[in-house]
Amino acid sequence: MKIAFIGLGNMGGPMARNLVAAGHGVTGYDTAAPMPEGVAQAASAAEAAAGAEVVLTMLPNGAILRSVAAEVIPAMQPGAVFCDCSTVDVESARAVADQAEAAGLGALDAPVSGGIGGAAAGTLTFMVGGSDAAFATVKPLFDIMGQKAVHCGASGAGQAAKICNNMILGVTMIATCEAFALADKLGLDRQKMFDVVSTSSGYSWTMNAYCPAPGVGPTSPADNGYKPGFAAELMLKDLRLSQQAAEAADADTPMGQLAAQLYRQFVEGEDGKGRDFSAMLPRFEARGRG
Ligand code: NAD
Repeated sequence: MKIAFIGLGNMGGPMARNLVAAGHGVTGYDTAAPMPEGVAQAASAAEAAAGAEVVLTMLPNGAILRSVAAEVIPAMQPGAVFCDCSTVDVESARAVADQAEAAGLGALDAPVSGGIGGAAAGTLTFMVGGSDAAFATVKPLFDIMGQKAVHCGASGAGQAAKICNNMILGVTMIATCEAFALADKLGLDRQKMFDVVSTSSGYSWTMNAYCPAPGVGPTSPADNGYKPGFAAELMLKDLRLSQQAAEAADADTPMGQLAAQLYRQFVEGEDGKGRDFSAMLPRFEARGRG
């Protein structure tokens, strides 16, 4: 398949590499990042997109996605599919899909879970919004870049699934970290805490698979000085998107709101920037109640 890939950073670079390794022809464009081996460099996003059957984008945010889409959509061949894999606001995802469909193209929002490790290993999970036909066209590419692709519904449904998942993730990480900090102050050994909670009703992905306490549970960023992993500022980005969506949809999300506030304080007012999102544990450890 002829593929254009726009935005070849930490995630897009390894995703494009996997498509090349599977034998696809990939033309790429990025304003800064170098092309991975085997990806042909285009002079512009529009040049990359011309003649491609599928255009994949992996960009920092909704504003950049909108500006890239405005340039790329008019250059695409009829019947091609514009598939955005970035994490962006639901509104931008729907606006870009409407624009693509009005131009006679297919459109998908297909954000991912699995991080840089999953992108490199080809084990991402794709959460996809858009038509059945567009999903069927891009599915073979999702199967190369990931281990699972869930067709969640119409345009925007992929982004909705992503931000709801990550709102749960942010809230449970905070709950897990504050519980460890409380357990410390109550004199409970961290390993014992893990042994109990990981097999009791408090278990969660953050406790069982990504334990924020160093030396406890499976290997995680906590065992590597809280080097990300999933950076606290990316968690903050996703929590902000969830609260933006909750505001627009008039949904009551008090825990999500509080998680967004805490990560904002951690990233912007404390030492959280550049640290893994599980570094909330040393943050709580260092604090008292007042
Ligand atoms: P990144 O900053 O490494 O990559 C983004 C790339 O887009 C950069 O190389 C940048 O130069 C390029 N870019 C910016 N503006 C451009 C333009 N106008 N035209 C072409 N290229 C442009 O970020 P990343 O970590 O690869 O994340 C990409 C997206 O994936 C984000 O939306 C992020 O939220 C999402 N995501 C990231 C992770 C993660 O763990 N890093 C996990 C899941 C989802």
